[in-house]
Amino acid sequence: MNTIGENVLKILSTIPQGVQVVAAAKTRNAQEILQTINSGITLIGENYLQESREVIQEIGDKATWHFIGHIQKNKVKYIVPLFDMIETVDSVELAEMIDRHAQKHGKVMPVLIEVNSAEEPQKAGVMPGDVMALVEKISSFRNIQVQGLMTMGPFLEDPEGLRPFFRITKALFEELKEATIENTKIQHLSMGMSDSYLIAIEEGATLVRIGTSIFGERIYP
Ligand SMILES: *Cc1c(COP(=O)(O)O)cnc(C)c1O
Repeated sequence: MNTIGENVLKILSTIPQGVQVVAAAKTRNAQEILQTINSGITLIGENYLQESREVIQEIGDKATWHFIGHIQKNKVKYIVPLFDMIETVDSVELAEMIDRHAQKHGKVMPVLIEVNSAEEPQKAGVMPGDVMALVEKISSFRNIQVQGLMTMGPFLEDPEGLRPFFRITKALFEELKEATIENTKIQHLSMGMSDSYLIAIEEGATLVRIGTSIFGERIYP
């Protein structure tokens, strides 16, 4: 078996029921992604429209495609038809654009709200205190459906330091679930990467986004 296959099996053996792995596939080619799929991870996360176009064209519906990168507004019209979920919604304007393009394609786009859980200036995501209001506003859009939350957390040497930020996001997730806002289906909490996914799972993640531990070190970011 190849290295990617071995890595996938090793990781899957650590994942409890009810948690799914999203293979964070930025910079990886179709061959590498197919090895991941054939080894049992069929959720693929992409950050960049340009490179995802090529691999989605080649691999298509053998996988479920999550957009996990920062979204430039002028790319929304291309992202909407290609992807099955967008994990990085952080404004009413962006949600409105996704809704409009989803309507054109006759689809309802599942979305997650990206939370800036450490309240870092310059970082993408909604401030924790603004999440409820944002979801309430965008729940009126008929061609998106809010299905949960995503967070990155700060870059830290020690992933244990991420716990407080995962907890803040989990608490919001529970609050959202209990609020039962119309047209939402709160079920996904996306947090944790290669160095932090086990901690994230302990703190309630249902989706973990893993790149390096599956594919090896990235040669470029
Ligand atoms: C690259 C990336 C990951 C995975 O990071 P690794 O450290 O390589 O596991 C997770 N989430 C997002 C949004 C990413 O861009």
